[in-house]
Amino acid sequence: MGWKKEKKQVNVSDFHQRQAIPLRFMRLIPTFCCNFDPEMEKQGLTMPFIGQETTWQRLLADLQVDRVPHALMLCGPEGSGKLALAVAFAQTLLCQHPREDGSACGECASCKMAAKLEHPDLHFTFPIVKGSRIKTPEGAVSDVYIKEWRARVLESPYFDLNDWLEDMGAANQQATYYVAESDNIQRKLALKSNQGGRKVMVVWLPEKMNQETANKLLKLFEEPPAGTHFHFKFKFFFIF
Ligand SMILES: [Zn+2]
Repeated sequence: MGWKKEKKQVNVSDFHQRQAIPLRFMRLIPTFCCNFDPEMEKQGLTMPFIGQETTWQRLLADLQVDRVPHALMLCGPEGSGKLALAVAFAQTLLCQHPREDGSACGECASCKMAAKLEHPDLHFTFPIVKGSRIKTPEGAVSDVYIKEWRARVLESPYFDLNDWLEDMGAANQQATYYVAESDNIQRKLALKSNQGGRKVMVVWLPEKMNQETANKLLKLFEEPPAGTHFHFKFKFFFIF
Protein backbone atom coordinates (compact mmCIF):
# COMPACT_ATOMS: atom_id res chain seq x y z
CA MET A 1 0.00 0.00 0.00
CA GLY A 2 1.27 3.42 -0.88
CA TRP A 3 1.17 4.70 2.65
CA LYS A 4 2.80 8.06 2.95
CA LYS A 5 4.10 9.90 5.93
CA GLU A 6 2.91 13.37 6.61
CA LYS A 7 4.43 15.79 4.16
CA LYS A 8 2.78 19.11 4.70
CA GLN A 9 -0.06 20.74 6.50
CA VAL A 10 -2.83 21.79 4.19
CA ASN A 11 -3.78 25.39 4.71
CA VAL A 12 -7.54 25.32 4.59
CA SER A 13 -8.22 28.90 5.59
CA ASP A 14 -6.18 29.92 2.60
CA PHE A 15 -8.65 28.18 0.36
CA HIS A 16 -11.61 29.94 1.92
CA GLN A 17 -10.09 33.33 1.56
CA ARG A 18 -8.97 32.76 -1.96
CA GLN A 19 -11.94 30.86 -3.29
CA ALA A 20 -14.60 32.42 -1.11
CA ILE A 21 -16.44 29.17 -0.45
CA PRO A 22 -18.20 30.07 2.76
CA LEU A 23 -17.31 28.10 5.84
CA ARG A 24 -20.82 28.35 7.21
CA PHE A 25 -22.03 25.72 4.78
CA MET A 26 -19.50 23.20 5.81
CA ARG A 27 -18.52 21.22 8.77
CA LEU A 28 -14.85 20.87 9.21
CA ILE A 29 -13.84 17.34 10.02
CA PRO A 30 -10.15 17.16 10.76
CA THR A 31 -8.37 13.91 10.12
CA PHE A 32 -5.09 13.06 11.72
CA CYS A 33 -2.08 11.15 10.62
CA CYS A 34 -1.79 7.87 12.43
CA ASN A 35 0.27 4.77 12.34
CA PHE A 36 -0.33 2.27 9.62
CA ASP A 37 -2.01 -0.84 10.92
CA PRO A 38 -2.48 -3.38 8.13
CA GLU A 39 -4.62 -5.57 10.38
CA MET A 40 -7.20 -2.92 10.84
CA GLU A 41 -10.06 -3.33 8.43
CA LYS A 42 -13.58 -2.17 8.92
CA GLN A 43 -16.10 -4.90 8.55
CA GLY A 44 -18.39 -4.38 5.64
CA LEU A 45 -16.42 -1.50 4.23
CA THR A 46 -14.77 -2.13 0.95
CA MET A 47 -12.54 0.90 1.27
CA PRO A 48 -11.06 0.36 4.71
CA PHE A 49 -9.50 3.47 6.14
CA ILE A 50 -6.72 3.35 8.63
CA GLY A 51 -7.29 4.82 12.05
CA GLN A 52 -9.62 7.84 12.07
CA GLU A 53 -11.85 6.11 14.56
CA THR A 54 -12.90 9.35 16.28
CA THR A 55 -13.83 11.05 13.03
CA TRP A 56 -15.63 7.95 11.86
CA GLN A 57 -17.71 7.70 15.04
CA ARG A 58 -18.62 11.37 14.74
CA LEU A 59 -19.84 10.84 11.20
CA LEU A 60 -21.87 7.79 12.19
CA ALA A 61 -23.37 9.69 15.12
CA ASP A 62 -24.43 12.50 12.77
CA LEU A 63 -25.94 9.95 10.45
CA GLN A 64 -27.94 8.27 13.17
CA VAL A 65 -29.73 11.50 14.01
CA ASP A 66 -29.95 12.42 10.33
CA ARG A 67 -27.77 15.46 10.78
CA VAL A 68 -25.07 14.90 8.23
CA PRO A 69 -24.43 18.35 6.76
CA HIS A 70 -24.69 18.66 3.02
CA ALA A 71 -21.06 19.57 2.73
CA LEU A 72 -18.22 18.03 4.68
CA MET A 73 -14.64 19.09 4.46
CA LEU A 74 -12.16 16.41 5.32
CA CYS A 75 -8.91 18.13 6.03
CA GLY A 76 -5.70 16.66 7.29
CA PRO A 77 -2.15 15.89 6.35
CA GLU A 78 -1.31 13.86 3.29
CA GLY A 79 -1.56 10.18 4.07
CA SER A 80 -4.17 10.56 6.79
CA GLY A 81 -6.75 8.64 4.80
CA LYS A 82 -9.20 11.41 3.96
CA LEU A 83 -10.18 9.90 0.64
CA ALA A 84 -10.53 6.40 2.09
CA LEU A 85 -12.72 7.81 4.84
CA ALA A 86 -14.82 9.76 2.35
CA VAL A 87 -15.43 6.71 0.17
CA ALA A 88 -16.26 4.59 3.22
CA PHE A 89 -18.74 7.18 4.45
CA ALA A 90 -20.22 7.58 0.96
CA GLN A 91 -20.81 3.83 0.89
CA THR A 92 -22.47 4.11 4.28
CA LEU A 93 -24.73 6.94 3.12
CA LEU A 94 -25.76 4.95 0.07
CA CYS A 95 -26.21 1.56 1.77
CA GLN A 96 -29.74 0.18 1.48
CA HIS A 97 -29.62 -1.90 4.65
CA PRO A 98 -27.36 -0.19 7.14
CA ARG A 99 -26.51 -1.96 10.38
CA GLU A 100 -27.81 -0.86 13.72
CA ASP A 101 -24.87 1.45 14.36
CA GLY A 102 -25.51 3.13 11.00
CA SER A 103 -22.54 1.57 9.21
CA ALA A 104 -22.76 -0.01 5.76
CA CYS A 105 -23.83 -3.65 5.44
CA GLY A 106 -21.27 -4.40 2.73
CA GLU A 107 -23.69 -6.79 1.05
CA CYS A 108 -26.57 -4.91 -0.55
CA ALA A 109 -26.58 -3.93 -4.23
CA SER A 110 -25.58 -0.36 -3.34
CA CYS A 111 -22.63 -1.48 -1.26
CA LYS A 112 -21.46 -3.75 -4.07
CA MET A 113 -21.64 -0.96 -6.63
CA ALA A 114 -19.94 1.45 -4.25
CA ALA A 115 -17.19 -1.12 -3.70
CA LYS A 116 -16.32 -0.90 -7.38
CA LEU A 117 -16.78 2.88 -7.28
CA GLU A 118 -19.50 2.35 -9.85
CA HIS A 119 -22.54 3.38 -7.85
CA PRO A 120 -24.55 5.71 -10.12
CA ASP A 121 -25.19 8.08 -7.20
CA LEU A 122 -21.55 8.25 -6.16
CA HIS A 123 -19.77 10.94 -8.14
CA PHE A 124 -16.14 11.95 -8.15
CA THR A 125 -14.60 15.14 -9.30
CA PHE A 126 -10.86 15.76 -9.39
CA PRO A 127 -8.25 17.89 -11.14
CA ILE A 128 -7.20 16.85 -14.62
CA VAL A 129 -4.85 17.88 -17.41
CA LYS A 130 -5.89 18.77 -20.93
CA GLY A 131 -4.48 15.71 -22.66
CA SER A 132 -5.13 14.49 -26.18
CA ARG A 133 -8.45 12.99 -25.11
CA ILE A 134 -9.94 16.41 -24.53
CA LYS A 135 -10.85 18.10 -27.79
CA THR A 136 -13.05 20.99 -26.68
CA PRO A 137 -13.25 23.29 -23.63
CA GLU A 138 -16.64 21.76 -22.81
CA GLY A 139 -15.04 18.34 -22.80
CA ALA A 140 -12.52 19.21 -20.09
CA VAL A 141 -14.27 17.26 -17.33
CA SER A 142 -12.93 14.71 -14.88
CA ASP A 143 -15.17 11.97 -16.30
CA VAL A 144 -12.69 11.69 -19.14
CA TYR A 145 -10.28 10.06 -16.69
CA ILE A 146 -12.80 8.14 -14.59
CA LYS A 147 -11.38 4.75 -15.57
CA GLU A 148 -7.91 5.69 -14.40
CA TRP A 149 -9.39 7.30 -11.30
CA ARG A 150 -11.29 4.19 -10.28
CA ALA A 151 -8.24 2.01 -10.88
CA ARG A 152 -6.08 4.32 -8.79
CA VAL A 153 -8.48 4.62 -5.84
CA LEU A 154 -9.22 0.90 -5.85
CA GLU A 155 -5.53 0.05 -5.87
CA SER A 156 -4.99 2.28 -2.86
CA PRO A 157 -6.75 5.46 -1.76
CA TYR A 158 -3.47 6.72 -0.32
CA PHE A 159 -1.98 8.67 -3.18
CA ASP A 160 -1.03 12.22 -3.99
CA LEU A 161 -1.28 14.57 -6.93
CA ASN A 162 2.01 13.38 -8.43
CA ASP A 163 0.77 9.78 -8.47
CA TRP A 164 -2.40 10.97 -10.11
CA LEU A 165 -0.53 12.98 -12.74
CA GLU A 166 1.45 9.88 -13.61
CA ASP A 167 -1.75 7.90 -14.02
CA MET A 168 -2.98 10.48 -16.49
CA GLY A 169 0.32 10.21 -18.34
CA ALA A 170 1.02 13.80 -17.44
CA ALA A 171 3.92 13.80 -15.00
CA ASN A 172 5.24 17.31 -14.29
CA GLN A 173 2.20 18.99 -15.77
CA GLN A 174 -0.32 21.14 -13.91
CA ALA A 175 -3.65 19.59 -13.09
CA THR A 176 -6.64 21.81 -12.55
CA TYR A 177 -10.42 21.98 -12.49
CA TYR A 178 -11.51 23.46 -15.78
CA VAL A 179 -14.62 25.62 -15.96
CA ALA A 180 -16.50 22.83 -17.73
CA GLU A 181 -16.26 20.83 -14.52
CA SER A 182 -18.55 23.17 -12.62
CA ASP A 183 -21.19 22.70 -15.35
CA ASN A 184 -20.59 18.98 -15.08
CA ILE A 185 -21.14 19.09 -11.32
CA GLN A 186 -24.30 21.11 -11.84
CA ARG A 187 -25.57 18.58 -14.37
CA LYS A 188 -24.96 15.72 -11.94
CA LEU A 189 -26.66 17.65 -9.18
CA ALA A 190 -29.74 18.09 -11.35
CA LEU A 191 -29.98 14.38 -12.14
CA LYS A 192 -32.52 12.43 -10.18
CA SER A 193 -31.00 9.99 -7.75
CA ASN A 194 -30.62 6.75 -9.64
CA GLN A 195 -31.40 4.50 -6.69
CA GLY A 196 -33.90 6.87 -5.09
CA GLY A 197 -31.68 7.65 -2.11
CA ARG A 198 -28.89 10.08 -1.48
CA LYS A 199 -26.31 11.30 -3.94
CA VAL A 200 -22.71 11.87 -2.96
CA MET A 201 -20.02 13.84 -4.69
CA VAL A 202 -16.42 13.53 -3.58
CA VAL A 203 -14.39 16.58 -4.54
CA TRP A 204 -10.70 15.75 -4.41
CA LEU A 205 -8.29 18.68 -3.98
CA PRO A 206 -10.79 21.52 -4.46
CA GLU A 207 -7.96 23.99 -3.93
CA LYS A 208 -6.98 23.22 -7.52
CA MET A 209 -10.05 25.06 -8.75
CA ASN A 210 -9.48 28.35 -10.44
CA GLN A 211 -11.51 31.38 -9.41
CA GLU A 212 -14.12 31.00 -12.13
CA THR A 213 -14.80 27.35 -11.40
CA ALA A 214 -14.90 27.96 -7.65
CA ASN A 215 -17.32 30.86 -8.09
CA LYS A 216 -19.67 28.73 -10.17
CA LEU A 217 -19.57 26.02 -7.53
CA LEU A 218 -20.23 28.59 -4.83
CA LYS A 219 -23.32 29.70 -6.71
CA LEU A 220 -24.52 26.11 -6.66
CA PHE A 221 -24.28 26.12 -2.88
CA GLU A 222 -26.08 29.40 -2.49
CA GLU A 223 -28.74 28.89 -5.12
CA PRO A 224 -29.23 25.15 -5.49
CA PRO A 225 -31.37 24.17 -8.45
CA ALA A 226 -35.01 23.73 -7.51
CA GLY A 227 -36.18 20.22 -6.81
CA THR A 228 -32.84 18.72 -5.97
CA HIS A 229 -33.49 18.49 -2.23
CA PHE A 230 -30.01 19.76 -2.05
CA HIS A 231 -29.62 19.79 1.70
CA PHE A 232 -31.21 16.43 2.26
CA LYS A 233 -30.11 14.31 -0.60
CA PHE A 234 -26.90 15.67 -1.99
CA LYS A 235 -23.76 15.38 0.06
CA PHE A 236 -20.48 16.95 -0.91
CA PHE A 237 -17.20 15.78 0.57
CA PHE A 238 -14.32 18.12 0.00
CA ILE A 239 -10.97 16.42 0.41
CA PHE A 240 -8.05 18.71 1.07
ZN1 LIG B 1 -25.27 -2.07 2.12
